[in-house]
Amino acid sequence: MEKILVLLHTVDGQLPQAALETLGLAQKLGGEYDVAVMGAGAAAAAQQVSGGAGKCFAVEGDAFAVSRYATDAAACEALIRASGAPVVLAPDMMRFHRALPGVAERLGAAVDTHVVAVSPDGAIDRWFYRQRIEASLRRAQRPWILLVEPGSQPAAQPQAGAPPEVLPVACETRTTVEGFSTPLAGEQTIRPDAPLLFVAGAGWTKKQRDGAVHVEEAADLILDFVRRTQCSLGSSKSLVDLSGEGQAVLPFLTHLHQVGQTGSSPRHRKGLATCCHGEEPHVVGWRFIQERRAVNLDPNCGWVRGKADVVYVADAFEVMRELRKLL
Ligand SMILES: Cc1cc2nc3c(=O)[nH]c(=O)nc-3n(C[C@H](O)[C@H](O)[C@H](O)COP(=O)(O)OP(=O)(O)OC[C@H]3O[C@@H](n4cnc5c(N)ncnc54)[C@H](O)[C@@H]3O)c2cc1C
Repeated sequence: MEKILVLLHTVDGQLPQAALETLGLAQKLGGEYDVAVMGAGAAAAAQQVSGGAGKCFAVEGDAFAVSRYATDAAACEALIRASGAPVVLAPDMMRFHRALPGVAERLGAAVDTHVVAVSPDGAIDRWFYRQRIEASLRRAQRPWILLVEPGSQPAAQPQAGAPPEVLPVACETRTTVEGFSTPLAGEQTIRPDAPLLFVAGAGWTKKQRDGAVHVEEAADLILDFVRRTQCSLGSSKSLVDLSGEGQAVLPFLTHLHQVGQTGSSPRHRKGLATCCHGEEPHVVGWRFIQERRAVNLDPNCGWVRGKADVVYVADAFEVMRELRKLL
């Protein structure tokens, strides 16, 4: 394997899980690698993982603490030039996803996103078109920047080593970062690292046996479960689309929660679907969920047809009330 640069950035002064996964991939490949870290507290973070690396670099300071294209691109360019490694592995997180294609243009490099495997002979596997197509390819162009899909690699065990060489990077910018605004108006309920995914379907807002809808109780049962178990909350498309149709809705659900063909394909060890029919365009988003269970009143629902390991033919309101007592 050619020499690799593992290019990382900090989040709140720490290396996130996806950074350790990218480092894990470089270590698994078994060749020579450098480490470079940018962002707040980059030098300290780099030293925590520099054991085993050849050279180690960092760019830090107020200008590089926040996510901003101009400064992120300048820092990454300097780090890649300092290492000179022909192959660059970086986690495919928002900050790098935005900055690194532009950096590749400046360096005359090739860049690939959504990389899920790299083999020592230089071939990579990557996704196209929202994970529907997986391709294996090689490129002759160097440098070659590879953005590694979070969740696709086992994380490295951090091993401290020598302090990094801190590079002075100057970059003029007219953009001031004032903060983030997020479409999630309420509390954070999407937790990619949680062991359990809890999916709510449109059934929660439908008329129940007594002929009435019980949206408030549904909201209470779901949120209480999510808070107590710290699981991640997902939704079917029908449920998040309801708001556009003026029907009763669960206010904490947005399209970001949608799992499925036109939503996300999260990676959790377990999944529990409730009041969700289990149609193919939804279940295709469950491809990485290892153990699947569903609660549905309908013994002929989609989950029963081989899409779940266990289906409880039961009223989800009753099941969740019992679960609340047990928790
Ligand atoms: C091109 C295309 C792309 C799509 N992409 C997606 C996608 O990304 N994600 C997605 O989710 N869908 C997607 N869909 C839509 C998908 O086909 C289904 O329409 C949708 O998933 C249905 O949502 P649902 O199961 O929540 O609702 P419904 O089909 O209305 O099912 C509600 C279920 O709740 C059950 N139920 C009701 N009350 C209770 C109760 N008290 N206890 C237990 N069970 C109860 C009912 O038995 C029923 O099975 C797509 C469709 C198309 C055509």
